[in-house]
Amino acid sequence: MKSHLIFIGAPGSGKGTQATRFVSEKNFKHISTGDLLRAEIAKKSELGIEVKSVMDSGQLVSDNLVIRLLQANINLEDSQYIFDGYPRNIAQSMTLDGEVLKDSKSIAVYFKIDISKLVQRLTNRRTCKDCGAIYNLVSKKPKIEGKCDQCGGTNLIQRADDKEEVIENRLKVFQETVNPVLKYYQDLGRLIEVNAEESPDVIFNMISSKV
Ligand SMILES: [Zn+2]
Repeated sequence: MKSHLIFIGAPGSGKGTQATRFVSEKNFKHISTGDLLRAEIAKKSELGIEVKSVMDSGQLVSDNLVIRLLQANINLEDSQYIFDGYPRNIAQSMTLDGEVLKDSKSIAVYFKIDISKLVQRLTNRRTCKDCGAIYNLVSKKPKIEGKCDQCGGTNLIQRADDKEEVIENRLKVFQETVNPVLKYYQDLGRLIEVNAEESPDVIFNMISSKV
């Protein structure tokens, strides 16, 4: 039986890179609830109209609405899915199991990385003020220092939310909410941990061997 994947990891842990590879090389479908919400609104379906009215009124989209959105958009028999960025807390994990995944097989993959390493990675991030292209002063430098490869702009800035204390705080909050989620999957024997500091190839092969 095929396994679906639930990716859990802090921003900067490299789970986006792996999701892209599993989509292109293993035929997985990538589920981002944000993308689904936008697509449903664009479709103007009954559900989309309901989502739009909730968002327009400034409220958060409820877990129930997200579940209905998933139910309407995925076919677990036909495809293998990667859930990315959802579930974010234990209540969502339980609902995802009970209402969506049910009897189908799924594995949670935790991209484990040392917080201080992650802070370093994220504080090296620079964004082009003109076109939004993202660089990293260590791992993805622009070809000419200080100049955007895409648009030639010279305003490569550190965004306010990429500052060290903001990142540290965001990661602390992330870790606190994610711990119970990890324990939930671990208790069910459905958790694998990958060392997010390994090379993307090593991580890809490791996860591939489990699905
Ligand atoms: Zn640019």
